[in-house]
Amino acid sequence: MTKKQGYCSFCGKKASEVRLMIQGIDAGICDSCTEQAFLILKEQFGGAEGNKGLDSAGFTLKKPAEIKSFLDQYVIGQDEAKRTLAVAVYNHYKRIHQKVADDEVEIEKSNIILVGETGTGKTLLARTIAKMLNVPFAIADATVLTEAGYVGEDVENILVKLLQAADYDVKAAERGIVFIDEIDKIARKSDNPSITRDVSGEGVQQALLKLLEGSIVNVPPKGGRKHPEQPMLAVNTKDILFIAGGAFDGIERLIAARKRTNVIGYGNGGNEVLDKNNMLQYLSPADLKKFGLIPEIVGRLPIITHLNPLDKEALKRILVEPKNALVKQFQKLFSMDHINLVIKDEVLDFIVEKAIEFKVGARGLRSILEAILNDAMFEMPSDTSVSELVIDREYAEAKLEKSGLEKLHIGD
Ligand code: ADP
Repeated sequence: MTKKQGYCSFCGKKASEVRLMIQGIDAGICDSCTEQAFLILKEQFGGAEGNKGLDSAGFTLKKPAEIKSFLDQYVIGQDEAKRTLAVAVYNHYKRIHQKVADDEVEIEKSNIILVGETGTGKTLLARTIAKMLNVPFAIADATVLTEAGYVGEDVENILVKLLQAADYDVKAAERGIVFIDEIDKIARKSDNPSITRDVSGEGVQQALLKLLEGSIVNVPPKGGRKHPEQPMLAVNTKDILFIAGGAFDGIERLIAARKRTNVIGYGNGGNEVLDKNNMLQYLSPADLKKFGLIPEIVGRLPIITHLNPLDKEALKRILVEPKNALVKQFQKLFSMDHINLVIKDEVLDFIVEKAIEFKVGARGLRSILEAILNDAMFEMPSDTSVSELVIDREYAEAKLEKSGLEKLHIGD
């Protein structure tokens, strides 16, 4: 050992003067010099250049196929939506890293719109993407935007949520992802009889447009209304990825009508065989406009993809397959009380049948499972003699009936 022991070889401070001294064979480094060194490293290698796949915010830029297989771990089915999203997200982050002025080609921003019945995984997809990229993520509900009526202001609240998710780190927020749910509910009045909002919807769409196309928006950090004394944070939405989602109830009819006209128009007498059970696959921007989204908004959501309704098989897989599948979650809860929970296959079928019967889709799986297991979750922790609980169909039927959940849905 040398006489340098106990001193920071960089700043010369003694071990007693610093919080932590990391000692090497012939040298030492204190905590603050370590921090400095880390910052230098980050500055040097943090950029897109010189390190494969690591961007300046420190997240790994995954390839589309990798993004898709990450999504596969959490979301069942919806292959087409996953592929489209994977490419869109990959391109989006490539776009952020493009060196401006390299050449004349500037990649334009491409926001995404997901169309599909409620409970088919739209929010889950957006959330999972954000989790993978480790970027701030916020969910905004488009229906709330109409209610306040004060156009422009509420729309900024979307960014407040994003800022909160980013711990008020504006730079991080500026590359985050925003999921705007129920965008179909701000459609203007159209031929579609289910849409009753008119002008208000269009006003909100106009305000949203400002965010989608990329601009600098002054945001009151705590939300609420703007007032002169409140300091504002300027947020640039240029690199924020917006994913809009909506069920667009009844849009199938608009798609069918357009397809029919096309087919007749081409004079081939209905040559094209349409898959009537899945009309969404033929969705085009024209249908979104017809539904009541203003053309400018449709133009700012150039990537359109759809989610399929979930069939029995998909619902059953959702119960057991995803990384944090419902059955796995309940098994974990029971295992904390040292109980091995076994749910028979016939019970999974029963839960799926009920979810379809109640028309609650994937969203209802949890409450059905919860209703079946509630008594056991109440009683088991106090009974130390039990180490295994096997649920069969008979047990499940009895518990669900007792819970009254069934009546709730029949009464609907
Ligand atoms: P949406 O946004 O389309 O209305 P969500 O993504 O919020 O639906 O789905 C509600 C819940 O249902 C999710 O939290 C998840 O538990 C489950 N779910 C829905 N679709 C899927 C899917 N394709 N794979 C796995 N789970 C799903």
